[in-house]
Amino acid sequence: MHAVPREGDYQGSDGLLYCGKCQTQRECLIELQDGRKICKPTPCQCERDEERKYKERREREAFQNRVNELRKQGVTDEAYTRQTFAADDNRNPKVTEKCRRYVDHWGEMKQNCYGMVLFGGVGGGKSFYACCIANALIDRGVKVLVTRLSDLVRHRIQQTSSQINLSEFDLIVLDDIGVESATQTAYNIADDIYRARIPLIVTTNLSLAQLKDKQQEIARQRIYDRIIERAVIDVFVDVRRSRIDIAREKSRLAHEILNH
Ligand SMILES: [Zn+2]
Repeated sequence: MHAVPREGDYQGSDGLLYCGKCQTQRECLIELQDGRKICKPTPCQCERDEERKYKERREREAFQNRVNELRKQGVTDEAYTRQTFAADDNRNPKVTEKCRRYVDHWGEMKQNCYGMVLFGGVGGGKSFYACCIANALIDRGVKVLVTRLSDLVRHRIQQTSSQINLSEFDLIVLDDIGVESATQTAYNIADDIYRARIPLIVTTNLSLAQLKDKQQEIARQRIYDRIIERAVIDVFVDVRRSRIDIAREKSRLAHEILNH
């Protein structure tokens, strides 16, 4: 069986059809068991390249669809999705560096169940950095949940059909720990995450000392113990270079210019 010639194709000295574009065979000879040889169409180099590019494009699209789906399922608050390393104004290079390294070493972090506490004052950008890590890992196809402990508590109490199955996730980010009520449900959730050995990244306005304070009410202490048990990385997000300060700085500069 011969290949259908296209414009520019030609017959080689071996009698087979060649592609006019890439000069490679569009036909080959196959030897049968009885020794006879038959001609068969075969893809030339440009057809093989085309096929490979098509497959790669399909794979990229499939991966991107998976990433979009992961973000939809895992990031409950729309605002969190925009908090990425690309949007980082580099006001806290040391924190950025630590967060990027967490992403780059994700394999080890997951294996050892290493979590992180981002603490510091209001407006310092703790949630921003936690979301940078979450979004960067989602971009790599990791199943991440970004939420608040109070939201998880509400979900569990409501017992809705769309229950969040925590054990499905590879990483859980709990934003703003310390504002929720110290209920048994809150403890159960923290304990579930701990037992499932899911790395946990938390942000909090509390200091590390407050999180570890043995004087606070027992219920609260039990929750924090669970949460920070495997948070081996403490990152202090310096509030001095907060967005608010930058805005003030800009406004001061604007005044200076106008008063010249
Ligand atoms: Zn060709």
